[in-house]
Amino acid sequence: MKILAIDIGGTKFSMALFDEDRMTRRETRRTDREGGREWMLGQIREIASGWLREKEAAACGIGFGGPVDYAAQRVALSTHVGGWQDFDLTGWVARELRLPAVMDNDANVGALGEAAYGAGRGFDPLFYVTVSTGIGGGIVRAGEVWRGADSYAGEIGHLTVRPEGPECLCGARGCLERMCCGLWLERDYGRPAHELLRDPEFVRRYVVDLALGLKAAIMLLNPARIVIGGGISKAGEALFGPLRTELRRQITSWSRARIDVVPAELGDDSVLWGALALARSRMGENGT
Ligand SMILES: [Zn+2]
Repeated sequence: MKILAIDIGGTKFSMALFDEDRMTRRETRRTDREGGREWMLGQIREIASGWLREKEAAACGIGFGGPVDYAAQRVALSTHVGGWQDFDLTGWVARELRLPAVMDNDANVGALGEAAYGAGRGFDPLFYVTVSTGIGGGIVRAGEVWRGADSYAGEIGHLTVRPEGPECLCGARGCLERMCCGLWLERDYGRPAHELLRDPEFVRRYVVDLALGLKAAIMLLNPARIVIGGGISKAGEALFGPLRTELRRQITSWSRARIDVVPAELGDDSVLWGALALARSRMGENGT
């Protein structure tokens, strides 16, 4: 059974084709922010039509880089690319690609990918954080994403860590995303995150804010493991060592909640694998 997986991000987007548990095709392209939604849909149609013959795939899973109303299966909006507000993306896939589709925000889908196929296997509950262009989070409990009452659980990116800090794209001040995501690091310091994180002095300051965000997740959820994905997780032990030390310093003294924080195992593909898991679980629900 073949499943089409789509990961739509603010900087790049990726697509993959899975045949059972094997990824048989994969393609990544840069997101043209000026091109907006229509450009992106054209790209998806082009790649998919090159891969799929009539009725070859059974379903499509999608991770979208922005808030998604899961129950209604609609994109709420994209904070990075225009034209997505209240868009029926799964309806578009059903019409244009003739595939039943299911979608969630990319952090929830990445969480599912790491829980099912990556660094989160055997760790329940799992908290996944993606630190890339923006910051998102996802909670997986007993193999399923825990979305809360309105699909907005896990949004760790907009926890306030610096109340007097600089203004975030959301309008609030000092959000975790504003202090720690790739987009703002580059704007604030004039160098890309992967360069900044090679400097131990920079890392020592950076992990203070990142740990303030993760501390909230540990105190609220007591996760069995926290998996960090996104570009910034590639900094390796140079980041994760100081981060664990800082978390140990910050976590309330009497708390025996574990501090198990590791990089994503699936690298750039957490969301693609999660889209596979999401599509499969939705097909199971529908009895198909
Ligand atoms: Zn914010």
